[in-house]
Amino acid sequence: MKALDELTFDNRFARLGDAFSTHVLPEPIAAPRLVVASPAAMALLDLDPAVAETPVFAELFGGHKLWAEAEPRAMVYSGHQFGSYNPQLGDGRGLLLGEVYNEAGEHWDLHLKGAGQTPYSRMGDGRAVLRSSIREFLASEALHALNIPTTRALCVIGSDTPVWREKQERAAMVLRLSPSHVRFGHFEYFYYTKRPEQQKALGEHVLAMHFPECLEQPEPYLAMFREIVERNAELIAKWQAYGFCHGVMNTDNMSILGITFDFGPFAFLDDFDANFICNHSDDQGRYSFSNQVPIGQWNLSALAQALTPFISVDALRETFGLYLPLYQAHYLDLMRRRLGLTTAEDDDQKLLERLLQLMQNSGVDYTLFFRRLGDESAELAVARLRDDFVDIKGFDAWGEQYVARVGREGPLDQEQRRVRMHAVNPLYILRNYLAQKAIDAAESGDYSQVRRLHAVLSNPFEEQAGMESYAERPPEWGKHLEISCSS
Ligand code: AMP
Ligand code: MG
Repeated sequence: MKALDELTFDNRFARLGDAFSTHVLPEPIAAPRLVVASPAAMALLDLDPAVAETPVFAELFGGHKLWAEAEPRAMVYSGHQFGSYNPQLGDGRGLLLGEVYNEAGEHWDLHLKGAGQTPYSRMGDGRAVLRSSIREFLASEALHALNIPTTRALCVIGSDTPVWREKQERAAMVLRLSPSHVRFGHFEYFYYTKRPEQQKALGEHVLAMHFPECLEQPEPYLAMFREIVERNAELIAKWQAYGFCHGVMNTDNMSILGITFDFGPFAFLDDFDANFICNHSDDQGRYSFSNQVPIGQWNLSALAQALTPFISVDALRETFGLYLPLYQAHYLDLMRRRLGLTTAEDDDQKLLERLLQLMQNSGVDYTLFFRRLGDESAELAVARLRDDFVDIKGFDAWGEQYVARVGREGPLDQEQRRVRMHAVNPLYILRNYLAQKAIDAAESGDYSQVRRLHAVLSNPFEEQAGMESYAERPPEWGKHLEISCSS
């Protein structure tokens, strides 16, 4: 276990030079204090969890202090936002403080979000508010606990610094960890500004640091693109399987590593709704829940365009064609598991689609349905769950097919079924209203609810004593919260 001053830095991205990022110092926030820290994320840096409570921790991640070996940099990138190309983006309020390597030999980017203005801030103040910082923290750690690839969050530091959004709020900083902060938009930036040499330097950096196995392939760039396609197919299958709606799938918010990245007005579904739009400024529903699948493909095509200097168009097209079938295979596999099925039958897709349609029509809670389905034998669970459906006849017909389908899996010990299903069907999920209640308390200075919610979500598949209220259906008001898009 390390103390804070024992971290070892190796700032590989900074060494790429000024064409890729600009040196900027963090601007401190006033009276920095720990809101919440993740012991699991701290372990990635070999940090002793006790150091989170020391004043120097809040000073470091509140922008007051810096390690001598850190090299804070704002990265430049561009990207497609809601389908249109924006030529100039970049870290407008976040800084890559440096790369720390741990005892396992892994490198982790330390990215401080809300660290003040940079050359890429445009009209922004460079700050992040407490509520959005808490939301990013909770989502990162909750997704990780659900086995969904994501950036991680080390901590949130609150402050007295006022910031103006729709009303006056307080600034906060969140310390994000990721093996890389390179986005699709990095490749787009050098492609559209016609800087092939820098694009090549970026490509070689990403290959060497993050896709070393691709360097052994005859066409390393093509192998890397294929890997990115595969990872995105799997990632989005997981989002769809667990009801995660990202909300702002612009290409500047897509990680080159195929992990969940840059959290805005995200939401997990309460009631199942394929058309759910979590981003209230998304009038066309471009990033609605079910559109995440084709948008994943659209984003990969934007990346493919930027990679045309390295890879032939035919090879890109062929590789890119793998996305949908791979997505479908992963998704069906995950949903079979959520249904408690261990074998595959041709009609499983239809069985699943009928269920989702019934859930959609009746507004059934997406998370709790699957959890309860595993509580008991298929017959008993279906008999109990039917009351949640308006179209009871429709559900009964589905239930009969489901029970028969489970029956064809062969004899099954009920306890085994429960354990297996509960291991993939969480009891606790980061519902918007739970986050909001914890944020309301934090905004009035009580951080205990954020900490408790984080603890519950760190172990979402295990029933936790005394935490029953976190596993309840949301109240009606809680399902229709308008989450502010300003952050
Ligand atoms: P986002 O929608 O948070 O992914 O941000 C899109 C772009 O706007 C990124 O380049 C951000 O760095 C920048 N940005 C967002 N909020 C601010 C802010 N308050 N100050 C400066 N830049 C910002
Ligand atoms: Mg972003």
